[in-house]
Amino acid sequence: MKISVRLTLPCFGVAAVAACFCAIVAAADVPFEIRSPQDAKPHEKRAAQELSAYLARRVAGSLTVAGRGGVTFHVGDTPFAREKGYVSTRMPDEQWLIRSYGKDVILNGGGTRGALYAVSHFLEDFCGVRWWSPHEEFVPPPAPLALPRLDASGRPAFRLRTLYTGMHEPNGGEVAMRVRLNDYRGPALGGGFRYGSPGSCHTFDKYLPAAKHLKEHPEWYSLSKDSNRRVGGQHAGQLCLTDPGCRTAMKARLKEFIEKDRADLKKRGVAPPLVYDISENDNWNYCHCTNCLAACERWNLSGLLLDFINDIASSVRDAYPDVIVNTFAYHGTEKPPKGGKRAADNVMVRLCNTQSNRAGGIFDPDNTIFRDNLEAWSKVAKRLSIWDYAITYTRELTGLPLPSEFYYADSFRECAVRGVFGFFWEHESPHKADMWELKYFLETKLMENPLLDSDELIYTFMREYYGAAGDKVLQYRRLLDVARRARKGFVSWFPALSSFSWVTEDDIAAGQTLLTDAERATNGEEPFQSRVRRVRVGLDRLVCLRARASGRADEPAVRAAAARLRAFWPGWMDRYPKKGRRSAEDELVAAIGLPPPQRFAGKRICDFPVQFINPGSGNEKSVRVVDDPESEAGRAIQVDADGSDHYNLPYTIGLYDQVARRAVVKRSFPKPLSEAGYAWYDIGEAQMPTNRAVIWLTGTWQTSLSTRDKKELYGRRFSIHVSAKFTGRKYCPGSDEPSRIWIDRVVLVEQ
Ligand SMILES: [Zn+2]
Repeated sequence: MKISVRLTLPCFGVAAVAACFCAIVAAADVPFEIRSPQDAKPHEKRAAQELSAYLARRVAGSLTVAGRGGVTFHVGDTPFAREKGYVSTRMPDEQWLIRSYGKDVILNGGGTRGALYAVSHFLEDFCGVRWWSPHEEFVPPPAPLALPRLDASGRPAFRLRTLYTGMHEPNGGEVAMRVRLNDYRGPALGGGFRYGSPGSCHTFDKYLPAAKHLKEHPEWYSLSKDSNRRVGGQHAGQLCLTDPGCRTAMKARLKEFIEKDRADLKKRGVAPPLVYDISENDNWNYCHCTNCLAACERWNLSGLLLDFINDIASSVRDAYPDVIVNTFAYHGTEKPPKGGKRAADNVMVRLCNTQSNRAGGIFDPDNTIFRDNLEAWSKVAKRLSIWDYAITYTRELTGLPLPSEFYYADSFRECAVRGVFGFFWEHESPHKADMWELKYFLETKLMENPLLDSDELIYTFMREYYGAAGDKVLQYRRLLDVARRARKGFVSWFPALSSFSWVTEDDIAAGQTLLTDAERATNGEEPFQSRVRRVRVGLDRLVCLRARASGRADEPAVRAAAARLRAFWPGWMDRYPKKGRRSAEDELVAAIGLPPPQRFAGKRICDFPVQFINPGSGNEKSVRVVDDPESEAGRAIQVDADGSDHYNLPYTIGLYDQVARRAVVKRSFPKPLSEAGYAWYDIGEAQMPTNRAVIWLTGTWQTSLSTRDKKELYGRRFSIHVSAKFTGRKYCPGSDEPSRIWIDRVVLVEQ
């Protein structure tokens, strides 16, 4: 490779090397030269380092521009860029420019990110470099690089581009910078958008913590409809938005936060944040006092919120004219205001999309609520941003097939038409969310330019990311989309297994065939084979979870799906550094692959090993999940029973209807059925309520199986069986051991 040693060094973050960039002189064997300003700023140094490091990997032999060698790249506000008039302070923030003049190439842009974006666009658009995800990049093998005359520029369409997660890992979010997300990431990565103290969402309780003020000032907090008492706190209540004292206290707090941020950041030489979030707590307990109800009548709840936020924002307008107060339109405030109420000019509204069908786009007939909300809010808020969800949340169902990618462009374009300022695009769980890499690619591209051809982006991804398997993977995705539309599938942000009933057994069979063909097309070549196997995780999990719910876990196709999951998925997850993630999913894989209990062989059962049971929140000290060789399932929930009389005999368990508030069926056992190991406790037969219900498994009710996210059980008739073991002095005469209840499985046998 004909590049000097200095240039081939991976030089990220090495100050001594960065200092060399002010003038690197081309040696005879170096095909190009990189120049940055004599007094380069951190982002300019970083931009030059990026260019150097990637070109070192990309170029072998010659590098030419329009046929000319001896190319010089001018990165940042260099003398050459200044001479041509392309200076960061005179270009719009985040605009980037790539332009050649003979053998001289300018890579620069506006503000602190323009030069970085010019470099990443150059690498991506002209050198073939790809950042598929925070964990996978592609650099074409070293080869001569013949570039055309260069003249490209652009500026991201949306001012705020946040993708959560995927912003900060690895290395503090350097990949996020490369794909032009602009959440704040330090000066070397170009800074970015940041919120002021005390946080960026659900901040009511951070401004006026109920734990601190509720006792002295109950009137600041929401009057609960249920209890007729004042309630506050992140999960219990809101603020009373009409209370004058509450408003005065909020104004004082906002001023405090702004002043403290400015003082702190001045010391560090960092620009102060301009956006302060004041938004509702994450619950539905809005204030029902007479004044608040009257204001809601007049303006809607969102209008009352705007009245409150406008008032707070007006208190800082004169002293801090550049500060914007951000608030949520979320849950009860998503519905737009009426009665002429508008957001003040120094207020930004962040509209959340909580009610849509996640499998469809903004023009889907199911999603008129959000589309109408967007239109109405865009008319009453000068600044509007969007908080959307590419993810579904029900824990074990996250990552089931969700062919939403075909509609992303519609959503981003409609938001651009409505003048949306930016996005918080929530897309967690890269290790299991369906087609996370494809969607990340589309999200980053379309946030930057919603007018890009979405089909072309998808083809590019399929061709380059899956190689020879791309066609088959795309056919599989289209098959899912056609099925979802034909059967009008609706997948909410908290779906049930039944939300995926639009994927028929025929679709699954056709999908498996396509993915088997896709894997064959990779010829075992990595990374393509692993990527195709990752595509199949969603379908295989659907097969296993559905079989578990319908009593077909022993069928060959199900066993094959479980075996594939066990063989592949844990290894793929190792790339994701978040602690606890791997173990939680390993548990799920183990539960999915578990054979049905021998006692119920040949019967149609719904089988719930411990991984599907809630061990009990709030008393973790006395309840835990442990390995237990005596258990047929290998794992059990272990409850310390000496501390509470609720665990005394008789042992009573049953099924409780949480809406009708009555036990559907229950049974008491005067003493354990076995003094040696597990026994099956048969509760009896019952029809599952068609609403929230729990099977309670101990006397405190903490350990339970909820049917809330298991709608596929609703209305069906089952006999209910709990596998439990009792040890220690409370249960076994003569024992001196601590008393414990062990529960390892709940089985429902269809009647
Ligand atoms: Zn009130």
